[in-house]
Amino acid sequence: MATLVTGLRCLVCGATHAHKNILTCPKCGEQGILDVEYDFDCLAARFTQTRRDSLQRDIWRYCDFLPVSSDVPLPPLHIGWTPIYDVPRLAKAVGISKLFLKDDGRNPTNSFKDRASAVGVMKAREFSFDTIACASTGNAASSLAGLSAAIGLKSYIFVPQRAPEPKVTQLLIFGATVMRVQGTYEQAFDLCTQACEEFGWYNRSSGINPFLVEGKKTAGLEIAEQFGKNIPDWVVVSVGDGCTIGGIGKGLQEMKRPGVLDRVPRLLGVQAEGAKPVLEAFKSRKDLVPTGTNTVADSIAVGTPRNWRRAIQQVKASTGDMIAVSDEEILDAMRLTARLGGVFGEPAGVAGVAGLKKAISTGIVKPDESAVVVITGNGLKDIQSAKQAAGQAIDIEPKLEALQRALRK
Ligand SMILES: *Cc1c(COP(=O)(O)O)cnc(C)c1O
Repeated sequence: MATLVTGLRCLVCGATHAHKNILTCPKCGEQGILDVEYDFDCLAARFTQTRRDSLQRDIWRYCDFLPVSSDVPLPPLHIGWTPIYDVPRLAKAVGISKLFLKDDGRNPTNSFKDRASAVGVMKAREFSFDTIACASTGNAASSLAGLSAAIGLKSYIFVPQRAPEPKVTQLLIFGATVMRVQGTYEQAFDLCTQACEEFGWYNRSSGINPFLVEGKKTAGLEIAEQFGKNIPDWVVVSVGDGCTIGGIGKGLQEMKRPGVLDRVPRLLGVQAEGAKPVLEAFKSRKDLVPTGTNTVADSIAVGTPRNWRRAIQQVKASTGDMIAVSDEEILDAMRLTARLGGVFGEPAGVAGVAGLKKAISTGIVKPDESAVVVITGNGLKDIQSAKQAAGQAIDIEPKLEALQRALRK
């Protein structure tokens, strides 16, 4: 069956292009990020039916909202429809009346990125590629490696030197060919782009690929359906390239038409103090100026974000805001989220909790409001940071007296 996609609109010049294998606007070049548009009347009608009839509880519930052809078989892994937890003790510690966590660390490769990779491998198949590549700080890569393994595509991955070991190991076990680039994420990104052109691989790099952000959109669609009219006032998301928050914002907007939401919640975008070019561009209302990167939250350590326009556009459309947090605040949030919410997130995964806490103390978010924080990645992805946040085990002899002595301390 054909998709409901009507075209790809450039976020810079507004021109619409046909739905085919292109990454950015031919007129605007790399800056010309494309946005997938749909026949929304048809979409709303079909989705009303889906809500009535479909018991499917994963991202493919939203096939009509995605640029995927039904001629390509779906990957067998369970992606999306991640749980939402009500966490009153964490809410109290953060200073808000009602707080929820949406745990996207529970996706098959343990991060939010699986939503995007799932669409990426489908597009690679649809466009008849047998090899797919990406540059990534880690999660997009492990996700692509896992999804490629699941459907039998070859994958080449370019990671920056600072990618945490557990993430690199995850790539290797899924059989990806891994290039550890002696340089930054930005350099890895450029090398990947060149390699895809040179060798004819499909480029999954989510900063620019217009289809991947559609996969990320499913989290917004889910949040809308999972809460319905009880949607919290704020949806809090950590920001690196900007695709995650841009996608979630788009998903929430698209749920107005079918009547799932009557208002869109405000987006709070959270960056790390050591890498906040999107926040700077948002505040200055000027074009983005690339920065350096220095943060424990490797997944949002992006100095040259590709999708900042989309991120800012969605934050503004929701009358939302942006904030930055220090590494110390991130590690504190890692502890709090685990100990008071029972969810173990990686630094970028819990940066939203840190950002919300700060936004409350600075008055952006009111204590009597409600929020859902998207936990974008699992804590075991980055043991080094977790160790910094967690403290030490107590070494004792295997004797009861030794235990008693230790407990008295
Ligand atoms: C990629 C990622 C983000 C940020 O997503 P962007 O699209 O780069 O803004 C946040 N958290 C985790 C765990 C990620 O892997």
